[in-house]
Amino acid sequence: MPIERSEAFILHSFNFSEQDKIVTFFTRDKGIIKGIAKGARKFGNRFGSSLEPMSFVHIIYYEKERRDLVIISQCDLQESFFDVQSNIKATFTLGYFSELIQEFLPLRSTEDLVFRLLLKTLQALQKGGDLELISAYFEAWMLRINGLAPDFSTCKKCGKRIQNSSWMSSRKDGVFCVSCAPQKKDSVPPDLPDFLDWVKKNPPPDTEIHQFSLEKLQTIRKTLQNLLIFHMEKEPKSLRYLK
Ligand SMILES: [Zn+2]
Repeated sequence: MPIERSEAFILHSFNFSEQDKIVTFFTRDKGIIKGIAKGARKFGNRFGSSLEPMSFVHIIYYEKERRDLVIISQCDLQESFFDVQSNIKATFTLGYFSELIQEFLPLRSTEDLVFRLLLKTLQALQKGGDLELISAYFEAWMLRINGLAPDFSTCKKCGKRIQNSSWMSSRKDGVFCVSCAPQKKDSVPPDLPDFLDWVKKNPPPDTEIHQFSLEKLQTIRKTLQNLLIFHMEKEPKSLRYLK
C-alpha cells in the first residue's frame, strides 16, 4: 500500500453515499486519477474546501489492490482560484477546461505540458486576464499538444502559401486555398495562423487589455471549437451552457 504525494488540480467531484465524495484529480507526475475521499461530506471534515473544482492542492493518496479508486487520505489547499469563479461565465469556462482535459488525456498518463498550461492559465485569470482571450489560448494549446492543429499556413493540395482566404478540409487535417477548395463551406478566419503563432510564443496574458478584438477572438474560437468538437465527436456539456 504505497503512499503517493503530489501536486494536483481537482477536476471534478461528486457526492457518493451518505458521507463520501468521489474525486477526479489531475496530478503533475501521474496524470488523471480517480479516488474516494471518505467522510468528505461530513460537517467540519478534514478536507475543508480543498475538493472544490479547480482547487490547486497537495494531495496524499494510496492504492488499494484490485480497486479502481485510490483512497485520498489528505488534501491541502495551495491555491483555491475561487475568485476566478466569481461569475457564472467564468465558472462554466473552468468547467469547460476541465472537460477538455478529461476528454483528451487518458487516465494515469503524465502530461506535464497540460498541467503547466492549466496552472499558468488559472494564474493569468486570477490576476485579471481576459476570459475570452485566455479561453482561445487554452483551446489553441489543447489542439496543439494533442497534435490536432492542422497547418493553416499552406494549402493541403497545391502546397502554396495561404494568402487570404482558406477553407478547412472535411477531415479537418488541413486547409485549401481559393483555387483548390472543392467546396467553399468551412471557411477559416484569415487571422487564425497569426493568432496560433502568437499563442506559441507568449504566456497567457494576465491583463485585460490586449491587441485582439472581441469579434476577432469569437471568430477564431469558432474554428478552434469546431476542431475540438470534431475530434471529441461530441460537444462538451459546459460549452453548450456557455453558448
Ligand atoms: Zn491550393
